[in-house]
Amino acid sequence: MQRSSAVDPDSSGSVPSDYSCVLCGAGPAGMGFLFYAFKSGKLAEVARNGLLIIDKRVSLGAGKLGDYVNVTGNSVAKSFLACLEHERFDEVFGDIREYNELHRKLAADPDGAPLLSEVGELLTLAAERLIEHLVEHFDVVVLRGHEIDAIRHDRDGRFEIAYHDTRRPAARRMVISDTVVMNLGGTQRVEEVDDLCRALDIPLPGNGVITCTSDELLRLTSTQLVDTFAPVFAPAAARRMNRITIIGGSHSAFTMTERLATDLGGAGLDEIAIIHRSPIRLFFETEEEARAWGYMVDPVNDICPITRRVNRSSGLRYRAFEIACSVMSQGRVAGTKPRVELIDAASGEGERARAATCLTQSCGVVHSAGYGPNMSVLVDHRGAEIPLLFRQGGIEVDKFGRPLDMDGKVVRGLFTFGLGSGFRPDPEIGSEAAFTGRIHGVWIFHHEIGKRILTGVLKALAEKAVAQEAEMIATADDDTHAGGRPRRGRADHRR
Ligand SMILES: Cc1cc2nc3c(=O)[nH]c(=O)nc-3n(C[C@H](O)[C@H](O)[C@H](O)COP(=O)(O)OP(=O)(O)OC[C@H]3O[C@@H](n4cnc5c(N)ncnc54)[C@H](O)[C@@H]3O)c2cc1C
Repeated sequence: MQRSSAVDPDSSGSVPSDYSCVLCGAGPAGMGFLFYAFKSGKLAEVARNGLLIIDKRVSLGAGKLGDYVNVTGNSVAKSFLACLEHERFDEVFGDIREYNELHRKLAADPDGAPLLSEVGELLTLAAERLIEHLVEHFDVVVLRGHEIDAIRHDRDGRFEIAYHDTRRPAARRMVISDTVVMNLGGTQRVEEVDDLCRALDIPLPGNGVITCTSDELLRLTSTQLVDTFAPVFAPAAARRMNRITIIGGSHSAFTMTERLATDLGGAGLDEIAIIHRSPIRLFFETEEEARAWGYMVDPVNDICPITRRVNRSSGLRYRAFEIACSVMSQGRVAGTKPRVELIDAASGEGERARAATCLTQSCGVVHSAGYGPNMSVLVDHRGAEIPLLFRQGGIEVDKFGRPLDMDGKVVRGLFTFGLGSGFRPDPEIGSEAAFTGRIHGVWIFHHEIGKRILTGVLKALAEKAVAQEAEMIATADDDTHAGGRPRRGRADHRR
């Protein structure tokens, strides 16, 4: 759907070429920053020399979150709705909160976990309204249906962002910006299945085995899921077990288990093996609640010091919690046919051998073990790639969300914090000590993380302003002596 307020993809040639900030990727992470900047009253500062929003999608705000089919969130409705609460939003989308059916539905069950497709719809609605407002009231330009190809960090600290219209890939264009907020989402690559198997010391999937990622499968409809796997299922008469192995032990792995059990139970799937390599952790609001469930709590490592929640970051919540409990107690997802076996391949030789057997006898293997970053190519002024520091498959960032290079130096002016990169727990963000991964979530993008990115972007712009002023003074001095020459400046490029 094309919005009237946005720049049409056809007119990409006419957008200004110089900005104070370019938002690359307007999914939940990028939009979280934008919502925060607006409600803090700082949008005009961020966009003081123009803000450009580029996304390869036409409809903005939900990213992949809205694409998952029949998947329930690992956050409750009220935490999504809280992202739309602020007095400054009243004039922008106050009516959504008052009259929108979907908003009303989520508000009616604030402590329930909603379907991600519905969350996505609501986030898109609010994001589109905010963008429309920003385009009208600030120096904001939008390029939908445009894909970023590469980002070059120039010697003067600015960024050249190369992009193309998805309908005309050959026609590349470029804009310049003082800062870049880049969140292009995460990737799971099917080629990583072999590496996952090697890490677990189990055989690689053989020929004829379907290998795929949970990220792609969770976006398929039930019919598409059946069409994917039914051709490799042996008929009942063949007396061979039809098993799919899932590698991973997080929310996605259990969500995937439910989708496979529900949709393929009637199509011939007999068994699902979930191979993981650290204990399955469950989330509880309080230590008392955990103990009432008979869950062993380590008070030092499992409890978040800020919220007192148990396994706040790593624990399975809501629907994934129910699926895990059902699998652990009944060996299947309640109400479905396939048996489900949980195998902690790191817990001993017997379990590793069992994992190896299951994988060898599977007709499908699903990678559900986290996401890497979907970064555009980042190069320096000579065109040489800037290698970024990766840990646990994601990009390391500093306290403002700036990525670190291999020498541990920050790439100044660049910010990334969505899926595949981002913040680790610290005293302000909080988390259980046992969790060492990265924090991603719509609510936190709109709150603490949004605040950090805004602080970082404003700091970078302030530093740029000082540097530019010094440059102008130096140029003016030169001009006095050399009779004047053109100066760089947004006014040169704008309408
Ligand atoms: C299965 C799953 C369930 C989750 N459930 C929840 C939940 O219930 N609650 C919660 O708070 N969090 C949840 N998360 C975590 C997190 O909030 C989401 O993953 C969130 O969607 C991440 O947002 P993002 O903006 O980083 O990435 P994305 O959603 O992938 O958005 C990236 C954006 O960048 C654009 N883009 C990509 N490449 C390019 C390019 N080259 N050029 C231009 N644009 C590009 C895309 O079109 C998209 O709009 C979940 C994550 C997963 C994987």
